[in-house]
Amino acid sequence: MIWNKEYECMNRENLQDLQLRRLKKVTHRVFERLPFYKRKFEKNRVHPDQIKSLEDLQKLPFTSKSDLREGYPFGLFTAPLGEIVEFHISSGTTGKPVVNGYTRGDIQIWAEVMARALTCAGTTSKDVVHNAYGYGLFTGGLGTHYGAQLIGAKTIPISGGQTKRQITIMQDFKSTVLTCTPSYALHIAEVAEEMGVNPRNLPLRVGVLGAETWSESMRPEIESRLGIDALDIYGLTEIIGPGVAQECERKEGMHLFEDHFLPEIIDPKTGNVLEAGQEGELVLTTLTREGTSLVRYRTGDITHIDYQSCECGRTLARIGKIKGRVDDMLIIRGVNLFPSQIENILLQIDEAEPHYQLILERRKGLDELTVELETSPHIFFDEVRKLEEIEARIEREIEETLGLRIRVRLVEPRTIERSAGKAKRVIDKRKLK
Ligand code: ADP
Ligand code: ZN
Repeated sequence: MIWNKEYECMNRENLQDLQLRRLKKVTHRVFERLPFYKRKFEKNRVHPDQIKSLEDLQKLPFTSKSDLREGYPFGLFTAPLGEIVEFHISSGTTGKPVVNGYTRGDIQIWAEVMARALTCAGTTSKDVVHNAYGYGLFTGGLGTHYGAQLIGAKTIPISGGQTKRQITIMQDFKSTVLTCTPSYALHIAEVAEEMGVNPRNLPLRVGVLGAETWSESMRPEIESRLGIDALDIYGLTEIIGPGVAQECERKEGMHLFEDHFLPEIIDPKTGNVLEAGQEGELVLTTLTREGTSLVRYRTGDITHIDYQSCECGRTLARIGKIKGRVDDMLIIRGVNLFPSQIENILLQIDEAEPHYQLILERRKGLDELTVELETSPHIFFDEVRKLEEIEARIEREIEETLGLRIRVRLVEPRTIERSAGKAKRVIDKRKLK
């Protein structure tokens, strides 16, 4: 078990002292090592020596994803190339991928924060960690692997895919902790059922699920189908990979490992820092990374932060479930919404399965959104009137909650493509034309 009580239960004053010491160091580091940062600092008329309090962080310029893309591949490393021992690349969900270079020290930090994350989810050395995150350049597989190894848990490096084999291995090896995306966890459950295996009877106890947005109503779906506790984990390649924040067994937000990553929440439009509790874009500064140190990195992820200490004993701040990425926000006839808000409504419909896709089209100059949603197998597809009645009910529900009229189309079970990694929720046909 890795519960680093010294850091995870630190009182805020001591934590802030530590953060400030580390912040000063990292600010000097990027300024002295990277012409890119030096230029940016000078443009903002700020020098690392001016960082005297944590509030002074606000004087520093942001770093954006496009800055990192421009530096591709090695342009933004803050350690000499000779000290880099591993590379990872983001999945490229929103465009050209970005590279992260890790020194030996960085890999140790990663193992530590991932071990803490798994411990936060109740993992001990007695557990069998079934790691179905993809291994390779994607950070999910190896990051989780390093953490599980540090705990001393038995690690199954199964990676994603070959789902039937996953289930057989779970049964034979008695897997207790499942690590994968929430959508893949659901797929594992449905494949088990097809194999005649009751997924609730698998030895799994807890799921550490992340890498994609999942709304609060997805949690009971996964928990009831697999008979597990489903906990959320957050991270991103640019910062380190998984292990930036992790939900504890209270399921009330993800503890952010603030001794390594310094969070802020900003208004994505103005760049102003928001008060605790307000929803905005998460900005992170790495406090201890060597290979890729980042100052005020705009993650693009929308959430809020809560500094109250938690009943689990950790004093680390918690971020709320990620609502989506700034880029994911859809603007349909003037109404702004995130796919996760629609998911939240869809999953409360009894006749529907938690598999859906949002199709965006432009008709007569207007944006139109259609939700394709799978029905449960016990709905007969020849009962047209019944289907129409369900569709109309969901459309009404969405209109009442989100103030937007969209079309809902029920589709047969298993028509929407499954993924072993991140699910593709939005098909934007406007861009294809
Ligand atoms: P990409 O941005 O190309 O998908 P990554 O593979 O590094 O690259 O994924 C990191 C991103 O995945 C985060 O910025 C965030 O948008 C999303 N993500 C990771 N964990 C979660 C989570 N628990 N909930 C919602 N989104 C998440
Ligand atoms: Zn907690």
